[in-house]
Amino acid sequence: MNPDLQKKVEELEAQLKNVLSEQHESAKLLIRRDLALTRANEQLKALDIRKSEFISIAAHQLRTPLSAIKWIMHMLLHDEFRDEFDRKNFIKKASDSTDRLIALVNDLLEVDHIQSGKYQVLFDQVDVTESVKAVAAELQALVDARKISLEMDLSPVIRIRGDAVKLRGVFQNLIENAIKYTTIGGTVKISARIEGDSVQMSFTDSGIGIPDSQKIHIFTKFFRAGNAIRVDTVGSGLGLFIAKEVVERHGGKIWFESAEGSGTTFFVTLPVAPIESNV
Ligand code: ADP
Repeated sequence: MNPDLQKKVEELEAQLKNVLSEQHESAKLLIRRDLALTRANEQLKALDIRKSEFISIAAHQLRTPLSAIKWIMHMLLHDEFRDEFDRKNFIKKASDSTDRLIALVNDLLEVDHIQSGKYQVLFDQVDVTESVKAVAAELQALVDARKISLEMDLSPVIRIRGDAVKLRGVFQNLIENAIKYTTIGGTVKISARIEGDSVQMSFTDSGIGIPDSQKIHIFTKFFRAGNAIRVDTVGSGLGLFIAKEVVERHGGKIWFESAEGSGTTFFVTLPVAPIESNV
């Protein structure tokens, strides 16, 4: 072959090889992109399913108190009460259902904030002892109604850095659960003291306990053990999910020990000055 032509052919061959190799790289890149897109799509689908489940459970939980209020409104409208006592009784029920709705909506908003990464913990001075005492005072009517003996062993002042509102919510949930899930006439004991650089707290009740098979799910949102549903039909199963997030955002820990039929103790430890608050 003519040497010029030979050279031209070789040049064209080299160019062709380059083009083919570039195409090969592009094809590999496309496959990788395709895989990443498929994975992202699957994650979005899973997220979508989780969101639908969340909305469906939330809507289901909102429906019960709303139906109760609607039914009582209907009775009010048509004056269907036996007497004044009966009327007041039903109005009280409507008012309780409204409180329940507000608490539920607040919990749902908190869970949504946690899940979307918008949950904010604001650090300030908190007196744990004051906070626990205030919650216990608020729950006194429930304590009396259930004839519970409430014992508190709290150091006089336990000052820590934390989010006062959110920690109060945690104490409220743990104390209310201890009262709710304890048989009438039972005992609830709360203790809190500083040990080293953390606060050690315990919330013990002589109640229904948590079945072994269900312990693993206790901090999962919307989860309620079968024995708890039988005792209290209106719980949401959101309180402990939120409590765990709050305690962990403070750099603390929450866990429990329980025996079905004998009682439960929830333990909380909180650092006196969490790292996050030193900014
Ligand atoms: P809720 O009390 O509204 O159901 P929580 O998130 O506070 O929601 O609690 C989740 C579940 O954990 C309860 O439904 C119950 O099964 C269990 N639980 C929590 N505290 C106790 C307790 N002190 N004794 C027995 N079971 C408990």
